[in-house]
Amino acid sequence: MAAQRQHSSKEIFALEDKYGCRNYAPLPVALCRGEGPFVWDVEGKKYLDFLSAYSAVNQGHCHPRIVQALKKQADVLTLVSRAFYSDKLGEYEKYMTDLFGFDRLLPMNTGVEGGESACKIARKWGYDVKKIPKNQAKIIFAEGNFWGRTMSAVSSSSDPTCYEGFGPFMAGFSLVPYNDIAALEKELQDPNVAAFMVEPIQGEAGVIIPDEGYLAKVRELCNKYNVLWIADEVQTGLGRTGKLLAVDHEGVKPDILILGKALSGGILPVSAVLANNNVMDVIKPGTHGSTYGGNPLACAVATEAIKVLFDEKLIENSARLESVLREELEKIPKHMLTAIRGRGLMFAIDVHDSYPAYDICKRMKEAGLLAKPTHGQTIRLAPPLVISEQQLREGARIIQQTFQNYKK
Ligand code: PLP
Repeated sequence: MAAQRQHSSKEIFALEDKYGCRNYAPLPVALCRGEGPFVWDVEGKKYLDFLSAYSAVNQGHCHPRIVQALKKQADVLTLVSRAFYSDKLGEYEKYMTDLFGFDRLLPMNTGVEGGESACKIARKWGYDVKKIPKNQAKIIFAEGNFWGRTMSAVSSSSDPTCYEGFGPFMAGFSLVPYNDIAALEKELQDPNVAAFMVEPIQGEAGVIIPDEGYLAKVRELCNKYNVLWIADEVQTGLGRTGKLLAVDHEGVKPDILILGKALSGGILPVSAVLANNNVMDVIKPGTHGSTYGGNPLACAVATEAIKVLFDEKLIENSARLESVLREELEKIPKHMLTAIRGRGLMFAIDVHDSYPAYDICKRMKEAGLLAKPTHGQTIRLAPPLVISEQQLREGARIIQQTFQNYKK
C-alpha cells in the first residue's frame, strides 16, 4: 500500500483554520505522536510536554498498560448504554467507591458533565432533603472558577471571555471571592443555598492556591449551614498536586467529588461524580443519564489508569518533584517573573508584563518544551507525573534558557 502523504505542520494549521470552528488559538505545533512525557510533531521534532492536556495525561502519553486495557476491552464490548447492565460498570464503581470512600459513583464523560451532574444532584438534594422551596435552590461558586463551557459553567463564570454574549444565564447561581471565608459564610446563611462548588486549587485561573486551612473551613461552614460542598477535582485530582486528591492536603472530604481528565490517563473522556447515599439517592431512574457514561471501554480504561497511578508511584513522584521544579524555576531571572506558585507538579509562573507570555511559550516550543499561557501573563507548568527528575530538570533548563535569551 502506498504510504499516505503526511501533511506538514503548516498544512495542518491551514486545514484547521479553514474548516474548524475557531474556538481555540493553539500554539503553532502539530503533534502526531506521544510517549510518556514526550510528544513529537509531524516533522519529527521532539518536545517535553509541560501541559499534559491540562492535566489529563498524568500517566504520560499512550501509557502502554492503559492502551492495552483499551485494546483488550475494545475487542469484546465497548458500549451498551445504561439500558442494560454490562459486566464492567459495577466492578469499576466498587473499585472507585472503595478507593475514594464514597457510597456511590455516577459515571459521566467530560469534566464539565461531571460539574453539571453535581449541580443537578445538589439542587435535587436541596429540594428533597433540605426542603428548599420549589425552584429557589442556590449554588455558590468561587470567583475565578473554571469548570468548562456549558451554559451552567459559563453562568457561574466570572470571566467575561467565557460568559459575554452567551446569556441569558442559569438562575440561582452566585459568586463569592475565592479564599474568602467571611464572604462565604455570609452567603451560606441563606437557607436556600444547596451547595458550594469550588476547586481546591484553581487551575485555569492560574494555579491559585488558597490559604492553609481554607478547605477545612469550607468543610466546617458547609456542615454548619447544611450546605453540600462540591469539590471540583477534575484538574487537581489523581496525583497532580502530590496527593491522590488536593483536598487530602487538609485531610477533609467533600460531600460531592468530581473527577475527570486523568481518570482515563488521556485516552477517553471519562468523568465521575462520587457521593454518599444521603446525597446520591436523590437521583432516581430517568432523572439523569448519559448514553456513553459508564461504558465498558471507559470502565476498563479508568480502572487501569488509576491502578497505574499507584503501581508506578506517580503520586509520590509528583510530591517529590515539587521542590525540584520550584528550585529550578527560582533560577529564572528574578526581574522577569512576578510569582511562582505550585503544589506537586501543578505550577504556574506569572511573567512580568514586559515579556509577553505567549511569545515566551512560542520560544520554549522552539527550544523543545510545550506549555501554554492562561489569562495573559501566567504560564502553567504541569508535566505528566511519569516525568523523571532528570527530564524535569532538562525541561526547567529549557524554560530558564528561554527567559535568559529572551530579547524583545
Ligand atoms: N473542572 C476543572 C477544574 C477544569 O479545569 C476543567 C477543564 O479544564 C473542567 C472542569 C472541564 O473539563 P472538560 O474540559 O473535560 O469538560
